Amino acid sequence: MSLIRRQFLTRAAVAGSVLGAPVIANAQSAKFNWKMTSAYGKGSPFYMDGPGSATDLAKRIREMSDGRLNIQVFGAGELIPAFEGFDAVRAGTVEMNHANAYFWTGKTAAAQYFTAVPFGMNFQGMNGWLYDGGGIDLWNEVYAPFGMIAMPCGNTGVQMTGWFKKEIKTVADLKGLKMRIPGLAGKVYANLGVDVKVLPGGEIFPALERGVIDAAEFVGPFQDRRLGLHKAAKFYYTTGWHESSTVSELLINKAAWDKLPKDLQAIVSNASAACNVISEGWCQKANSEAMEDLIKNQGVTAKPLPDEVVKALRGETDKVLAEAVVKDPMTKKVHDSYFAFKAKYDRWSEISEEAYHIKVRG
Ligand code: CA
Repeated sequence: MSLIRRQFLTRAAVAGSVLGAPVIANAQSAKFNWKMTSAYGKGSPFYMDGPGSATDLAKRIREMSDGRLNIQVFGAGELIPAFEGFDAVRAGTVEMNHANAYFWTGKTAAAQYFTAVPFGMNFQGMNGWLYDGGGIDLWNEVYAPFGMIAMPCGNTGVQMTGWFKKEIKTVADLKGLKMRIPGLAGKVYANLGVDVKVLPGGEIFPALERGVIDAAEFVGPFQDRRLGLHKAAKFYYTTGWHESSTVSELLINKAAWDKLPKDLQAIVSNASAACNVISEGWCQKANSEAMEDLIKNQGVTAKPLPDEVVKALRGETDKVLAEAVVKDPMTKKVHDSYFAFKAKYDRWSEISEEAYHIKVRG
């Protein structure tokens, strides 16, 4: 190549594109290799595999960035144990973790609100609060002291109350019942005399089958059937008063995030929002098919909890939330924002979505 041609090419590369050739600029061509851990095992549907999952999110980011942001995804136990994502992202050992914020309530109590609050909002309401009602800003404020940011990256939609070996007819039937149920909802059940057990997903079926526990909640029809819970208990109560929609969290190290060019940050945010919607859509399809199979072919009885029991659960939820708010000012700030939004959303929902389901759809 002649010297003149070489100089021309060099200048052209610096100045911009020539005849449709791409612009070469250092900041834009830098490559980032990141790691993302998950609280769920390799191959777990919804969480690790399938539409809107952690691996799908990483693939979308890689494709949209043309390989400039490569995220290697690790299931629980592959790089770190299931519930160490918070500490790993905080320390910068990994740049991202894919899980649920309510696993971190031991670090900061307000984290509960960014996953699910008992008797809380559905998928639509949560998205309204998170994206447009100040929810994501508060999430980042809660994590600021830990040097992290977060965003929604998935949602199971409404979950199920869970599996019970015996029928629940009155509040008294809960007394002494050994039940697997994590988080704030566990405290609510405990107030009503339930002996609460916290077991990882993989241990639920054997415990229920052997009678170590009498009842368990996990996710919904598809995930629960996959664990085989219908083979250990026949009463399937609906719906998920404890998790009216359950948000998956993309947790990111703030220092690493700040090093990404603006366009890569936008790619991460947009891919994450896409997975939030796509994963929830997948759950609707998977759960409607699984529920039909459980009822038609597996002898499962699915019905709502008696009104008296729901009323008691609501009463105890109010007490548990009131206690949490008094203990921590940040929890109060998030709680007030969440429930102020919910009050408006409930009024609107009643005359829109609910009216459609009850009065119009038939
Ligand atoms: Ca659950």
